[in-house]
Order: sequence, then structure tokens, then C-alpha cells
Amino acid sequence: MNSSSRKRKVLIVDLDVHQGDGTAFIFKDEPSVFTFSVHCGKNFPLRKQQSDLDISVEDGLEDEEYLFTVADHLPWLLESFRPDLVLYDAGIDPHWDDELGRLRLTDQGLYQRDLYVMKTVVSRGVPIATVIGGGYSRDIDKLALRHSIVHRAATRVWRECGM
Ligand SMILES: [Zn+2]
Repeated sequence: MNSSSRKRKVLIVDLDVHQGDGTAFIFKDEPSVFTFSVHCGKNFPLRKQQSDLDISVEDGLEDEEYLFTVADHLPWLLESFRPDLVLYDAGIDPHWDDELGRLRLTDQGLYQRDLYVMKTVVSRGVPIATVIGGGYSRDIDKLALRHSIVHRAATRVWRECGM
């Protein structure tokens, strides 16, 4: 089977603090799409959908443990599923200052997370597209700044990987 007739595979990496329940439900019977969600178990939605891989974390998780959790799964997922494209939901609501998040990530932690995800994917020659997600704060300037983190990380990956 050549590459044009082979069904392309997509890995969805959803790191918004809430479960990626929408994509989990939409693609539950679609083997060419693998849904991976890391979320806070006690957060909305109370009734979770079933992703292909759900990692439920406890309230109050901080940068280092969170990053270990992501790094524990992303490499082997890429090696075993071998996606043609990764879609990355870079939700900012795991931030400590988020009104709904319940986790304790810092700006630097979000930046390291985004950098790690993009570098890990791109270094394997797999394209990645990201979307901003989540983020609940009444301070719009803070929120906008936080949403710029993934763009800053993407710029660095783009420069360093010479794409
Ligand atoms: Zn969210």
C-alpha cells in the first residue's frame, strides 16, 4: 500500500486541564485517530468519555510532576501509533492562577510543556498543529499573555529545528 492510499493517522494530544471529552467521543470508533488526554480527574466533566489513553491527575500537581507525566507517555505513543500528524491542545488552564484549573503549573511550566511536546513530535519528523485552549481568569491581559506561551515555544522550536 503506498502512502497516498494508506489512511493517514492523527494523534490528538489534549493537555487542557479538562478531559478532551469531545474528541474522545467523536473519534471513539475511528482507529486512525488516537486521542490522548491528560486532565485533572476531579475537574469537569464529572462523567468522562473514554479516550484511547486517559491520564487522570490529582489536584495540586506542580510543574515537575506534570512534565514527568507527559514525558512518560508521549514518546512511546509516537513510537507505537506512528501518527502522520499531531494535533495539540495547549490548554492553559492547568495554571496555578486559573479559576477552574485545580492544578499548580507556572508560566514557565506551561512553556516547558509546550516546548517538550513540540520538540518531541517535530524531532521525529512528524508535523504538529496546535490550538490554544482553556484559560479562565477575569484578567484578560494575563490570559492573553498566557495564551502567547505556546506561540513563543513554537517559535523557538521552529528556529532550533531549522524548519
Ligand atoms: Zn479547560
